[in-house]
Amino acid sequence: MRYLGNKVGNGLAIGKVLVIRNQIPEIKEWNLVDVNEKENEKKRVLDIVKAVISDYERVMNEAEEPEIKDLCGFYRTLLMSGSLQKAMTDKIELEDYNVFGAIKVVMSEKEKELSLIDNEYLRERSKDIADVTNKLLRKGLGIKELDLAHLTEDTILVSEEIAPSVLLSKHLEHVKGIVSELGGKTSHVAILARTLGIPSVFGIQDISNILQDGELIFLNGNQGYLETELTDRDIAEAKEKIVKAALLEQNLQEMIGKPAITKDGKQFEVAANAGDLTELDKLLEVKSDGIGLFRTEFLFLNRSTEPSEEYLFQVYKTFTEKLEGKPLIIRTLDIGGDKKCSYLHIPEEQNPFLGYRAIRYCLDHKDFFKVSLRAILRASHYGNVKIMYPMISSLEEIKEANQILEEAKQELRDQNIPFDANIQTGIMVEIPSVACMADLLIDEVDFFSIGTNDLIQYGLAVDRVNPTVSKLYNFFNPGVVRLIKHTIDAGKGREAKFVGMCGEMAADPLGIILLVGLGLHEFSVNVASVLKVKKLISLIEAEKAEALIEPIMKMKTAEEIESCLNQYAKEAYGEYY
Ligand code: PEP
Ligand code: MG
Repeated sequence: MRYLGNKVGNGLAIGKVLVIRNQIPEIKEWNLVDVNEKENEKKRVLDIVKAVISDYERVMNEAEEPEIKDLCGFYRTLLMSGSLQKAMTDKIELEDYNVFGAIKVVMSEKEKELSLIDNEYLRERSKDIADVTNKLLRKGLGIKELDLAHLTEDTILVSEEIAPSVLLSKHLEHVKGIVSELGGKTSHVAILARTLGIPSVFGIQDISNILQDGELIFLNGNQGYLETELTDRDIAEAKEKIVKAALLEQNLQEMIGKPAITKDGKQFEVAANAGDLTELDKLLEVKSDGIGLFRTEFLFLNRSTEPSEEYLFQVYKTFTEKLEGKPLIIRTLDIGGDKKCSYLHIPEEQNPFLGYRAIRYCLDHKDFFKVSLRAILRASHYGNVKIMYPMISSLEEIKEANQILEEAKQELRDQNIPFDANIQTGIMVEIPSVACMADLLIDEVDFFSIGTNDLIQYGLAVDRVNPTVSKLYNFFNPGVVRLIKHTIDAGKGREAKFVGMCGEMAADPLGIILLVGLGLHEFSVNVASVLKVKKLISLIEAEKAEALIEPIMKMKTAEEIESCLNQYAKEAYGEYY
């Protein structure tokens, strides 16, 4: 069985499940029973805080990774704060709380305070406060921290929500993967997992109740899924994949800064998909050919109010400047579906993926949309910015969005605020109607970017987050291949236009051969895959890939197409495949 989630990255893993349950201690009594105990309770709370501070100091001193040092440093500073400690003793003295009540109330006030600050780093940190609180409570109750030192086998940690403190353990040598029901790509645990290089998949509903301790599972952190009920053959294949991925990984550094050129000299752009500031350093490090998809929704999620134009502008400007002239394709807000945003008040829907999403919401909320467009336009003055509209299903929507863009431009002109007057606009091709109309729509845009994650969902009517139907989700269904070909063909012979792909298929080894053959211009892939995609392209002969297209277009099943691509993949990728 395959379960789909959010890819956090770091590659592949196979290991036995260890479900981590309830790290949150159960506390029944929050108030003091005996008020004469106040002095003792005040001393106790300070002792608990001190003990936890020294735990963090120990990890800080032992850790080699700067991210872990920073994180522990942050927790330490937080707990050392005189006002925080005083707030706890005051709760006992003045409001009759016991140690646990004092810790809980003060820490949740702190959490709220941080979550309201208009600073992404501090807002993200607010989510860690619950972890620090639980650590304080466990310390108070004398509950031992989760001990990973006893692990002797390759293990995949599974939890409703993995606490960052779990990953601060020194004993991670047998932790090969992490699966969590909650937590996005930008959560702190995700960042820590990436730093530590542990393959991870988050956001799989109820998985901690579905999986059993000791069950062997395969995890693909790059593509965001896990597989259960492995046969001997699955296990052997998974192990082989892990060995080959490691071999490929060792040879990727040579691709940094190199263009992606096939063996017979055809060049392709390999850009990165990005969603937050944490990915910026990594994509600069691998020197991607710009950003082919900036998922702006991450700037809108996990907060209680909409971000200001100034905040958005500053983020976009930072990216634009750091890219030094390489393209930055900023996708306008793609909210809805599985990306919920409480303050936008999108009502509950029976079919949210077919509902009030992305451009549909934005066109109905013109002023809100205009704020985002103004921020993008302002950033365009500082480099090579392009605008991309998501979830377009008709020409009318493109025209309406462009009309609002024109109004935003006029407002900036009236205010003498500079922007790139020739800014290019494109659309995501992720709804089948648009793929079918690609030849008609190409004149209306500067570029297309094929979003296969949704195009396949809508093309095959397979909910992309529903594990029960995930086996039907297939890149190589002949219908899907035709939608993609039609879209790429629409851009042919039009020098000023380009067709890219920012869905996951662009990083798939077989997908890459097909797309090289079809003549896609730009591959935009998750940051961790940029070098791999460049490397694989460099092993392909474009002419051979092109020659596969005619027979592939006559094939009637995904299996036939896959096996045809597979045959060439073995020849082209050799030891890496
Ligand atoms: C897609 O649909 O392929 C895509 C890249 O967008 P997202 O995954 O953000 O929906
Ligand atoms: Mg999409």
